[in-house]
Amino acid sequence: MAKDKCVLCGEETPYDESLHIDYRHGYIEGAGQLCKSCYDRGTKRTHITIPADVIYNTPNDQELGQKVRTIYNQST
Ligand SMILES: [Zn+2]
Repeated sequence: MAKDKCVLCGEETPYDESLHIDYRHGYIEGAGQLCKSCYDRGTKRTHITIPADVIYNTPNDQELGQKVRTIYNQST
C-alpha cells in the first residue's frame, strides 16, 4: 500500500493512503496530510513575493539570498 506524502514538502508520511483521517496525526482537512516536521512548524505560513527581475538580475545565489532577506525584513 502506498504511503501518503506530505502536501508541503513531499516527504513520505507513515500513513497508508487508505487510512481514515480519524486515525492520522497532522492531517489538515481541506489541505491534506502533513509530515511531522511540517506539522510541528505550526500554522504560521507567511509568504512574500519576490519580483522576477530581482531573481533574473542577481545571478549570484548568495547575493540573491541577501536581497530576499532584505525584502522579507521590509515586509514584516
Ligand atoms: Zn512535510
